[in-house]
Amino acid sequence: MARRRQIYEGKAKVLFEGPEPGTLVQYFKDDATAFNNQKRGIITGKGVLNNRISEYLMTRLGEVGVPTHFVRRLNMREQLVREVEIIPVEVVVRNIAAGSICKRLGVPEAAPLPRSIVEYYYKNDELGDPLVAEEHITAFGWAAPQDLDDMMAMALRVNDFLSGLFLGVGIRLVDFKLEFGRLWNDEEMRIVLADEITPDGCRLWDIETNGSMDKDRFRQDLGNVVEAYQEVARRLGIMPEAGPRDMKGPATLQ
Ligand code: UDP
Repeated sequence: MARRRQIYEGKAKVLFEGPEPGTLVQYFKDDATAFNNQKRGIITGKGVLNNRISEYLMTRLGEVGVPTHFVRRLNMREQLVREVEIIPVEVVVRNIAAGSICKRLGVPEAAPLPRSIVEYYYKNDELGDPLVAEEHITAFGWAAPQDLDDMMAMALRVNDFLSGLFLGVGIRLVDFKLEFGRLWNDEEMRIVLADEITPDGCRLWDIETNGSMDKDRFRQDLGNVVEAYQEVARRLGIMPEAGPRDMKGPATLQ
């Protein structure tokens, strides 16, 4: 890690220059933030689990024809990805009402939505990632109308596929956030799924108990955060090869 040039440090990941041009290494940290950075903590072992969970979900999505930036996992905390130009729009898909939609629109928590709802947020920490309309995205040139159509179509496909995948292991996919990037190939550009798909950016509820198996456990101080992520990995059949030394530790430090 020390040899590589750091490109960017985010809240939960660090990006390093990759071994070949056009590649990056994504390093998954144990850091957790919530409420636009106001709450911070360390969830020991989260990075290892998220690296493995995102590898698994991106690979499965790739197999059903969703283009992604993922190349391969390198080790416990790192994965090789294609370098993309991140589109500054967070795409949220919701199946069940939770979180901000309840506050914003007064929808009762846990109400099934009449249909899956896709929302866009402008990726800007200073502004607190505001909800935006397609109009803002295209008018300000964050994405072209065709790009946005592609993103919406991909987001709905991801939702269909992941909803089924999680349902099969007793988990309801309540909502999730995706990021997309532009991948350049000579003169050609295509939009691919980027960033990560992990319990940090999804709401996952146990089908029996409706208990949270995601970052809401950290946001709401519910405890057993890493255990919940571990259970998601276990149900997906991908518990990482980590020994107890790598995984154990205080679940949440603030
Ligand atoms: N989300 C995310 N990053 C963000 C905002 C939201 O990953 O910056 C995810 C969040 O984990 C949830 C979904 O997107 O699965 C919808 O989040 P919501 O708008 O309800 O916001 P929140 O209640 O998390 O503030």
